[in-house]
Amino acid sequence: MELVTSLLKKNENKILLVVLDGLGDLPCKDGKTPLELANTPNLDKLVKESATGRHIPVEFGITPGSGPGHLGIFGYEPKKYTIGRGVLEALGVGLELKETDVAIRGNFATVEYKNGEVVVIDRRAGRIPTEENKKLIAYLSEHIKKIDDAEVILHSGMEHRFVVVFRFPYPVSEEVETINDTDPQVVGKSPLEPVGKGEFAEKVAKIAKKFVEKVAELLKDNKPANYALLRGFSVKPKMPTFEEKYGLKSACIATYPMYKGLASLVGMELIKFEGATIKDEIETLKKVWKDFDFVFLHIKKTDSYGEDGNYEAKVKIIEEFDSYLPELLSLKPAVLCITGDHSTPCKMKSHSWHPVPVLIKSPYVLGGLSERFTEREVIKGELGMFYAIHLMPMLLAHAGRLKKFGA
Ligand code: ZN
Repeated sequence: MELVTSLLKKNENKILLVVLDGLGDLPCKDGKTPLELANTPNLDKLVKESATGRHIPVEFGITPGSGPGHLGIFGYEPKKYTIGRGVLEALGVGLELKETDVAIRGNFATVEYKNGEVVVIDRRAGRIPTEENKKLIAYLSEHIKKIDDAEVILHSGMEHRFVVVFRFPYPVSEEVETINDTDPQVVGKSPLEPVGKGEFAEKVAKIAKKFVEKVAELLKDNKPANYALLRGFSVKPKMPTFEEKYGLKSACIATYPMYKGLASLVGMELIKFEGATIKDEIETLKKVWKDFDFVFLHIKKTDSYGEDGNYEAKVKIIEEFDSYLPELLSLKPAVLCITGDHSTPCKMKSHSWHPVPVLIKSPYVLGGLSERFTEREVIKGELGMFYAIHLMPMLLAHAGRLKKFGA
């Protein structure tokens, strides 16, 4: 058992974790970051009575995806628990995966048949419109329901992308991650045959082969999408739930499927609600707050605007969040943590490896070290710089949920 799990004790103290996705940034205007440019009177006040610092999501110099970024914050070593491409894609379209599922990412492609050979001429079928993709998936779903003992579940993604899940009547093995992608990566070549190492992987590879053949048969007269390439065979990683690991009854409030998927991987309860604004999320939080020990509230737009390079919009989202801070504080969480899952600097228009600001509000902090909640100011804080996986034990400690270690 992990040390932190062995030291757990129960109490009524609640923890609220707010993740502003891609929060960390670099100078955008007049040498200032969006957090520095934003007018945040409530955060400015809160930060003075909070512990501050920075976290390294995965490892020094490593740029994480949102998957590893969140796993780290949740205290699951992201280098150990890797989430396969198929699983991530499935979570991204909102599919709930079971222990019995193999998830695979699919691409519609265009092929030609030359002297009995299949030759890929477009690996993305001209990036067909998403609407066209939906029609194809509906058609294929009607005609491919089961292959051998696997139920076939199809779900369209954006443009040429889709997800296929083979659902077996028994738990599946990680062996399937040895199965190669069938995408030859270049045009003018034949798709590769799926091959796996191990008995179960071989079986899944055979099912995948039959699936590709069926798709080719059903779409033979369709243009331009007349074939399927498969990538990222993967299974849901086996990991202890939040309740097993931390003794916390936990919930997730998020608007994007991928984050709900990540939260469901660690066993958080997904709260359903209408709307997609910060206000909608906070209204939802107020309703469910009394029912949980731990709530993870995810705000996506900070990352989206970082990816767009739109620092002005990122500033606005930070200000909007700031305006709701008094409502969060009125819930009187024993511990409130505000951070991001990684940095998404506007000037890079992508995720980055830069450390991410963290704030922990509890009665047991020094505080008074940072004037504002910004990339520069939090460097002065008492938390210093730490790996994200150490965040959860600190939050538990601040909530009085960890016993002394040793006599
Ligand atoms: Zn992210």
